Amino acid sequence: MVSLCFDVAVVGGGVVGCAIAREFALAGASTVLLEIAGDILAGASKGNSAILHTGFDAVPGSLEARLVAESHALYLDLHRKLNLPLLETGAHLVAWTEDQEAQLPAILAAAHENGVADVRILTAAAARRRTPALGPAARAAVEIPREYVIDPWSAPLAYLTQAVENGATALFGAGVTDGRFDGAVWRLQTGRGEVRARFVVNAAGLYGDWLERSLLGASRFAIHPRKGQFVVYDKAASKLLDTILLPVPTSRTKGVVVCPTIFGNVLVGPTAEEQDSRADSSTDEATLRRLKAEAERILPGLAGMPVTAIYAGIRPATEEKDYRIFADAERHWITVGGIRSTGLTAALGIARHVLGLHGGAFTPPPEIVWPQMPNLAEHLPRDHQAPGRGEIVCHCELVTRREIEAALESPLPPSDPAGLKRRTRAMMGRCQGFHCAARLSALVDARLSVPLGAGPLS
Ligand SMILES: Cc1cc2nc3c(=O)[nH]c(=O)nc-3n(C[C@H](O)[C@H](O)[C@H](O)COP(=O)(O)OP(=O)(O)OC[C@H]3O[C@@H](n4cnc5c(N)ncnc54)[C@H](O)[C@@H]3O)c2cc1C
Repeated sequence: MVSLCFDVAVVGGGVVGCAIAREFALAGASTVLLEIAGDILAGASKGNSAILHTGFDAVPGSLEARLVAESHALYLDLHRKLNLPLLETGAHLVAWTEDQEAQLPAILAAAHENGVADVRILTAAAARRRTPALGPAARAAVEIPREYVIDPWSAPLAYLTQAVENGATALFGAGVTDGRFDGAVWRLQTGRGEVRARFVVNAAGLYGDWLERSLLGASRFAIHPRKGQFVVYDKAASKLLDTILLPVPTSRTKGVVVCPTIFGNVLVGPTAEEQDSRADSSTDEATLRRLKAEAERILPGLAGMPVTAIYAGIRPATEEKDYRIFADAERHWITVGGIRSTGLTAALGIARHVLGLHGGAFTPPPEIVWPQMPNLAEHLPRDHQAPGRGEIVCHCELVTRREIEAALESPLPPSDPAGLKRRTRAMMGRCQGFHCAARLSALVDARLSVPLGAGPLS
């Protein structure tokens, strides 16, 4: 039982909930984030493509189009202040068939309508000048200069860290199971006892509709989980491209992307597979083989390149394409649902929008604390290059003992091996922990709720 009555309870510690908690905390609201898992990023936010979208291909006039565009600008302003990395890759949307080539002018027009004016059509020869390894069947491309690559895990961690360092509370193992509203205050039943708050923001991602039904009696949307599988190629593949290669999208999905990661690998994916399960993020061999074949058609040099990792993420899709964000002023409740495939980008703008929907006036802290995130990006200086680095624990990703200890000492330490991996890159490299797991286990097991041998690794 937490005795305080908070101004706002944010349910869900995905990227969207973390950004919303930050926005309210910096505005001066007493804020609690309630997460069912032992750490942040237990749902959709743990497995995405990590692209900072411009919104060039969003549905013009949609809420998503507006919030993605605003958020792109917000991230560019914020990332240096929190020491978050940005890989300024740009993107080429490549047409491989006559039919796809015929769609490029419409894609350009939609981009202009979405305020993304710096796009242009390139000949295949011009696209190949940027990516000489591009497959021979490429016919033309649209260049989108401001599509970038970011760190999908440090960003939400930074948002919640900043929230906490500015007074917010983060409660883990605090799944919201029930709640009653008495006209002024919500009494939420959670895995950590009752939590009271004057306002609730539902950012429960893949379980957003379930939360609405449980606490409000009905939901205006239903989650249709949509899995996306990925293949991560070895860092040696990074010499093949330095931009994001997008396909011509369909009405259902943005399609299979080939892009650099901020960590120096090449990523291929995601698929778009409808499924009933909100939790099954397994991968399967046949799909991964198809992804590899598709990747090698786009970038033939990938053939024979070693694969470092595979993973899948689940999008919280709904029956509609646009975000499902609604405010229920009477019941002091804001729903942030269906943040399907652009939430990593849009989280900052969504958070600002939600604060606006709340409409409350708070007194901001006199001085904002700006935590500095440890850099894990390959193109920026890493800790192993810094003086006095000491022991290197993970030799594939060059992770120092000092980095691991800093993660364990941080305001939001990992509770399990997956959280440790996301915070440090340990066990994320070529050997996937084969060489360092024993040493790592000796260093961290006493500090994790789930020891190395027992927890999920992704
Ligand atoms: C394959 C794939 C590729 C993508 N690529 C990109 C990309 O390149 N760029 C981009 O911008 N976006 C991308 N996205 C989209 C982005 O990842 C999602 O929009 C975003 O992660 C949604 O975040 P969320 O916080 O709404 O949901 P989630 O991440 O699902 O967070 C919800 C949280 O709520 C918790 N929770 C659930 N129920 C309860 C409860 N009752 N009580 C307490 N806690 C609860 C969950 O454990 C979870 O941690 C991609 C997504 C996928 C799956």
